[in-house]
Order: sequence, then structure tokens, then C-alpha cells
Amino acid sequence: MSKPPKMFSVLGIPVHVMSNYPGWLLECLQLSTGTHVVTLNAEMTMQAERNPSLAQVIHNAELVIPDGAGVVLYLQWLCWQKVQRCPGIELAETLLREIGEQQTDAKLFFYGGAPGVAAKAAEFWQQQIPSLNLVGTHSGYHSPDEEEQLKQTLTELQPQVIFVGLGVPRQELWIAQNRHLCPQAIWIGVGGSFDIWSGTKTRAPAWLGNNNLEWLYRLYQEPWRWRRMLALPEFALKAFLYRLTIKGAI
Ligand code: UDP
Repeated sequence: MSKPPKMFSVLGIPVHVMSNYPGWLLECLQLSTGTHVVTLNAEMTMQAERNPSLAQVIHNAELVIPDGAGVVLYLQWLCWQKVQRCPGIELAETLLREIGEQQTDAKLFFYGGAPGVAAKAAEFWQQQIPSLNLVGTHSGYHSPDEEEQLKQTLTELQPQVIFVGLGVPRQELWIAQNRHLCPQAIWIGVGGSFDIWSGTKTRAPAWLGNNNLEWLYRLYQEPWRWRRMLALPEFALKAFLYRLTIKGAI
């Protein structure tokens, strides 16, 4: 196994920095090393401050990637680390492509989204890369009985990469509670990625992403997010105050 990623702290929450996240995960896949991947952004960092269970789950995850622009700017500004942003959806897409190219036959599972969305996302990927071994999908809205059935299915199938799109913090907590069902799998929280892959929603144009403005597009698409997005100025203010503290200490 190549070197473990370097770890930094973003307002007390760990984030791992390395040059090739998909390569590292493909090694985990090859070695059957159970891995939980968390895609960290400013909003999740603020949620973790208020939710100790979420904070604990992130601390325990094997890989926490800098998904959001806020986290990347924090690392540059406060940890002096030149870091490339790694959006979770792009990491998931690269993983799917590389697994397809390597024809590893790894078993993949999509869980989450409104009824039919994960199935449609799977159909999209199967068309793109026919060699992918997508062994099952499950919607993220279900009864407790259906959830039991899902857990049984996962136990029987033993997928090797499980994409969980339930939103934050639901997906992180669910993975932490259930990863023992498939201890050798890579479990990755993918938020609303199934919505994008299924064509239910669209991603921000690249120029907005490149200018750290993806959040603005999400706000335009889903105005009800405004309350959640108050976490962004809160994060910026905390980072600023933290910076003043370290300056004072030097
Ligand atoms: N979702 C789900 N079950 C739930 C709540 C949400 O499957 O009980 C799905 C929802 O349909 C959407 C995703 O979780 O596809 C959340 O996407 P969002 O972009 O809001 O994720 P976040 O911004 O929290 O990463």
C-alpha cells in the first residue's frame, strides 16, 4: 500500500491531502481494505461542530477529501498547503471510469435518492461503461422493513464499492452504522450525485466551479438551501478568527 495521505485540521475536523485519491482508493479496492470516504466541505464542517456524532464519524473515516472550495481555501490560507479541490462527484466518476477500464469486475452498489433515481443513475453508467458490474440499487426513501431488506441484500451481495447518496449527515451516520455489513468495501457518501447522473438535476457550469461559486448555482437551483448555506459565512468568519489567533501566537 502506498503512503497514507497527509492529514490536516480544518477547524478541528481532519482532512487528508494527497495527489491521487482515486489511485489510493483503487489500491484499497485491490487489497480489500474497508474504507469510508467522506467528502468534506464548509457546510459539513459547521454541521460537525454542532453534531458530535458526525464529528466522530469523520474522525474515524479512512479518507476525508477536500470537496468544497471553503476547505481548499482554508488549507491554503491557514495550513499553507497548495491543495487541489476534489469534488466528491468527480472522485466517484473517476473511480467508476477506472474500475471500468481496469475491468476488475468489482461489484458496485448505488443507494439513495428518490424512488427510481439510483436505478436511472445505474442505467446511465451501464450505458457509458458496459463492463461495470453494478449489482444493485436502492432508493433512499423507504420503510424500516425495506431498510432491513436492503441490509440483508448488502450482506449477501458483498458489493466492493458502495455509493451512498442520502445527503449530509444522514449518509455519513448510515455508513458508520452499517459498514460492518461489508467490512472490505469502499463506502463513499455521494450526496446528490445520483440526481445528476440520472438527469434529475444539473451541475453548476464549470466556470462557476472554477471560481469557487458552485454554491451560488445550488442556491439558484434550490433556494430552500439558503438556511443551510448560512454555514458558509459562519465558516469564513471562524476561519478568519482562527487566523487572527495564530497570528497573535506567532
Ligand atoms: N435523500 C435520500 N433519503 C433521504 C433524504 C435525502 O435518499 O431520506 C437523497 C435526496 O433524494 C438527494 C440526496 O439525498 O438525492 C441529498 O442530496 P444533497 O445534494 O442535498 O446532498 P448534500 O448537499 O447534503 O451532500
